[in-house]
Amino acid sequence: MKEVEQDKAVVEEVVSQQTEQTEENNAEQKPQNSEHKNREGTERKVRRPMQKRKVCQFCLDKVENIDYKDVARIRKYVTEKGKILPRRQTGVCAAHQRALSTAIKRARYMGLLHYKGD
Ligand SMILES: [Zn+2]
Repeated sequence: MKEVEQDKAVVEEVVSQQTEQTEENNAEQKPQNSEHKNREGTERKVRRPMQKRKVCQFCLDKVENIDYKDVARIRKYVTEKGKILPRRQTGVCAAHQRALSTAIKRARYMGLLHYKGD
């Protein structure tokens, strides 16, 4: 729950900054340019450590079928509470995220991982 609240706070911050900047930029430049500049500007302002673009670990390792028995690997994509981490945090590609979620659900069923909230 805390994560969600934090996310909301960040989004609100970004939105407020965007509106501020839009007003500033509109006075000087064309709307299209200012919109583009807004995104760059806000990203710099938001307190978030600059990260390298994450690459899907499964693609790097050329894993085609994610094994639900490979708990050591799957663990990294689940929170302590057993939630599956979103792609934006882990950098897993869409195809592998789908396979991963299936694998995690199978692992839960087999008792290798916790269910959500447990
Ligand atoms: Zn992948």
